[in-house]
Amino acid sequence: MRYLIALFIFVLGLYGCSGNKPVAVKSPPSFAAPQPPANFAQIQSEIRAYMASHNESAWWLERQVPESQANKKLTDPLRRNITEALNRLGPTTDETKEIAKAFSKFNVGVVISSKMGVGISSDDLSYPGGKVLIVFYPKEDGPLHPAAVWYDASRKVVFVAAVDWPPAVFTSLLGHELSHALQHQRNALGSVASKELDEWVYEEVRAHTVESQILNRLADGAYYKTLDRLLAESKIVDWSEAYRVLTKGHLDELDLILGTKQAGHKVLNPVVAQHLLVVGMRCIELNVPAEDRKRELIDCYRVTTTRFGG
Ligand SMILES: [Zn+2]
Repeated sequence: MRYLIALFIFVLGLYGCSGNKPVAVKSPPSFAAPQPPANFAQIQSEIRAYMASHNESAWWLERQVPESQANKKLTDPLRRNITEALNRLGPTTDETKEIAKAFSKFNVGVVISSKMGVGISSDDLSYPGGKVLIVFYPKEDGPLHPAAVWYDASRKVVFVAAVDWPPAVFTSLLGHELSHALQHQRNALGSVASKELDEWVYEEVRAHTVESQILNRLADGAYYKTLDRLLAESKIVDWSEAYRVLTKGHLDELDLILGTKQAGHKVLNPVVAQHLLVVGMRCIELNVPAEDRKRELIDCYRVTTTRFGG
């Protein structure tokens, strides 16, 4: 992502649930009553509790690699992972087909010295034909990067934190960043606009749409289905309130769908940011007439990133 949503963490709060009514003559099948949606402070607590139930991410690249070791042995498995991710994301939509095709050749590297800017393995610099460079950075460089995975348009580099990524998450985040790379190649308005402008925001909306479509497809449709169900149960129809369904229990449920149950914090920061935004986007999809959606999606992005840190 070109931005960072830092999740602000607060203390745990609890909310009650409604009790059963006395049974009349004939009892209908019993369903658990949906819990009332939480308020903003409660959701911050729920997210904190959810994050606390996961560990810090383990990094596989904890120190900068001596140049002599930054060779194909290190980068070949990374190249295979990326190729597999491109194969997985491709069939999602026409746009992801274009992304997979445009970046079927890429360069990959690891940071060997952050003092050099982007220092990568010399083997990989000679890898032919890449239109984008995908660089894994070590733990020590974490503070230098605005997000775990992000696209640096000026250097045409996708930077990736060197942690273990669940395949669906890595695929969807790569799709997000490569959608920016493709827009940038085409000199699209959104890729050159300043951050305050609607065009810039709308490119983010589109990138998050690509990201969530990939996640949803890899989850066999269960991602959207679950968010839509939570919105229906809560009776929330206003996107600015949609985040209130993301209680710890529901975030746990999404873990099972997306394979993030064992994921660490570095992985979950962009994942939770994605849930907070996408639940609002689903609410718009379900409740706003098509002709008004673009405006509302732009507002939804701004409100969500402001509310949860930007
Ligand atoms: Zn982005």
